[in-house]
Amino acid sequence: MADHVDIATRSKIMRGVKSKNTSPEVSVRRYLHCHGYRFRLHRKDLPGKPDLILPKYRLAIFIHGCFWHRHEECFYSSTPKTRTEFWINKFKKNKERDSFQQKKLIDMGWRVLIIWQCGIRHERKSLSSIFEKIESNETFSEWPESAPKPAK
Ligand SMILES: [Zn+2]
Repeated sequence: MADHVDIATRSKIMRGVKSKNTSPEVSVRRYLHCHGYRFRLHRKDLPGKPDLILPKYRLAIFIHGCFWHRHEECFYSSTPKTRTEFWINKFKKNKERDSFQQKKLIDMGWRVLIIWQCGIRHERKSLSSIFEKIESNETFSEWPESAPKPAK
């Protein structure tokens, strides 16, 4: 059957289809999986319901949105200009809940790795540095280590 759309349009469509199914979480999962890391998803019985669990490394991974989880100095974690007080309060609670749950996990003998979504979006080339985080002995670590600079 003849394809009625030209190549440029077709590839646009394909990209669209792809991005629809490619949440930051799915990208991380695919990336780790194709590099041989085995994990379990959404262990609801663990504090904070980590997005991924790597049993071999006793590691819980959270893939955090920078806005809701307040990635420090990140350009995605702006504070809305309206109802500012409401937001500040909300963010404070989010942060408190996060650190409470992370502490609980650590108390249970898990290590915690936070993967910030801005990193997945802007630091694709250095995704492999996540492996160092996984293999390290750090009880708590974040990737990327500092927020990427906004694109010009
Ligand atoms: Zn960020």
